[in-house]
Amino acid sequence: NRRWVLASRPHGAPVADNFRLEEDTVAEPGENQVLVRTVYLSLDPYMRGRMSDEPSYSPPVEIGEVMVGGTVGVVEASNHPDFHPGDWVLGYSGWQDYCICDGKQLSPLGDSPEHPSWFLGVLGMPGFTAYMGLLDIGAPKAGETLVVAAATGPVGASVGQIGKIKGCRVVGIAGGEEKCRYAVEHLGFDACIDHRAPDFAARLAEACPQGIDVYYENVGGKVFDAVLPLFNTGARVPLCGLVSGYNATDLPPGPDRLPLLMGTLLKKRIRMQGFIINQDYGHRIEEFQREMGHWVSEGKVHYREQIVDGLENAPEAFIGLLEGKNFGKLVIRVASD
Ligand code: NDP
Repeated sequence: NRRWVLASRPHGAPVADNFRLEEDTVAEPGENQVLVRTVYLSLDPYMRGRMSDEPSYSPPVEIGEVMVGGTVGVVEASNHPDFHPGDWVLGYSGWQDYCICDGKQLSPLGDSPEHPSWFLGVLGMPGFTAYMGLLDIGAPKAGETLVVAAATGPVGASVGQIGKIKGCRVVGIAGGEEKCRYAVEHLGFDACIDHRAPDFAARLAEACPQGIDVYYENVGGKVFDAVLPLFNTGARVPLCGLVSGYNATDLPPGPDRLPLLMGTLLKKRIRMQGFIINQDYGHRIEEFQREMGHWVSEGKVHYREQIVDGLENAPEAFIGLLEGKNFGKLVIRVASD
């Protein structure tokens, strides 16, 4: 069993030395336990938070512990009445080949799901995050302008496409022309602006002639600075993630913009609300699964993955995720099915 453990905590961006590959033997499952072979490992921005020991909504990974992560795998051996060898399962095995799980950590996916890895993306945690944050906090109405960054990732792409289903004008923000073209041509966004362009703020304003009614916040930083002056009265801001700052070691330099932010929230009566998907909305997972399942099977929501082969490549792929090197949902294929 190969497993990536946290070797040291990063200062700023994670580097290869923060991870260590170890090997141990595969254990036998005990009573009511299941041995699962990992086939797909999800890599997600929140994992950067788990590498730090600052107080957060979940405890950190300790030094020497296996890196956490959502996984899809196949049952190899089982002493649990609900799981049988050959079953596909969604679990939380982390960055390793095999895991001994108790049944509570596993959700059955049947014996031959059509796209097993999609349960790590559009049909899983990121899709659920997009769905609840947009619909419950963003409350989009037909004709309103919705803006979302990290627009081609699993959260942003789902947010924008659900926004189109609800009748919004959808403006994406992404890194680079290729991602922007994809958002318009394949995801059906009305426009998508490259946040690396020197005239980014002006181009965003041009793409939102009626202002912004819902801004689904995934990135923060310079993107938020460009969004702030465009808010309409009564705008809603689901505060989902701030990935541009996950590797920051200090507050950004420059003038203090907190009074500008608070003044804008006050005068325009804007509602900004943070949420943590499973903690706030775990009880609504079935509603999401039903509705998103329909949209995906009807072709109303499209999904793009970037599959990287080999568990050995997980740290490099993860480091790239925080720099926008991924194009679509980043998944490691740990083993062939
Ligand atoms: P993505 O696959 O979209 O990956 C992150 C993307 O962020 C990168 O590809 C890059 O896209 C963009 N990015 C990185 N740095 C910057 C920057 N400096 N400025 C602008 N964009 C940047 O990730 P997910 O779809 O999985 O997650 C999106 C967000 O949702 C994250 O912030 C994540 O933490 C959050 N999240 C929150 C949850 C919650 O419960 N609150 C649950 C799940 C996710 P590009 O190249 O297009 O800029």
